Amino acid sequence: MTISFDLDDTLIPGTKRFPTEKRNLLQKTFGHEKIRLGTVPLVKKLKAEGHQVFVYTTSFRSANYIRLLFLSYGIWLDGIINQRRHDRTLLAEGNKYSKFPPAFGIDVHVDDSKGVEMEGQRFGFKTIIVTEVMDLWTDHVLEKLSLSL
Ligand SMILES: [Mg+2]
Repeated sequence: MTISFDLDDTLIPGTKRFPTEKRNLLQKTFGHEKIRLGTVPLVKKLKAEGHQVFVYTTSFRSANYIRLLFLSYGIWLDGIINQRRHDRTLLAEGNKYSKFPPAFGIDVHVDDSKGVEMEGQRFGFKTIIVTEVMDLWTDHVLEKLSLSL
């Protein structure tokens, strides 16, 4: 399966706060953002099981920055969708969707947004919603994914 993750308030704290992975000196030096505690083992586990892992963000962070951010934690992302790529791919659709994972071959998308969950119900794509108060958020993701297999 191909699984994508949102960044803001899902893997990267913004308005929502949650514990983050430790940053090494290099990551601090380059001003890399902090990523949510549990992200690294979760993504490594998914990839070891043969899944493809994408980032799908409605931010304008560059694909290179996102690539390097995850690579600095030892994670090779299989695909990166930022707002620019989303806009280019879904040009003909206008602003119909904030996110549309099927356009990128994504089977399940993990996000913090109830709005994205509603879009999924309306337009027929699978989402897993995580909140900032879930300490066991990685277990939640794995449990929901096993139901989608
Ligand atoms: Mg978000």
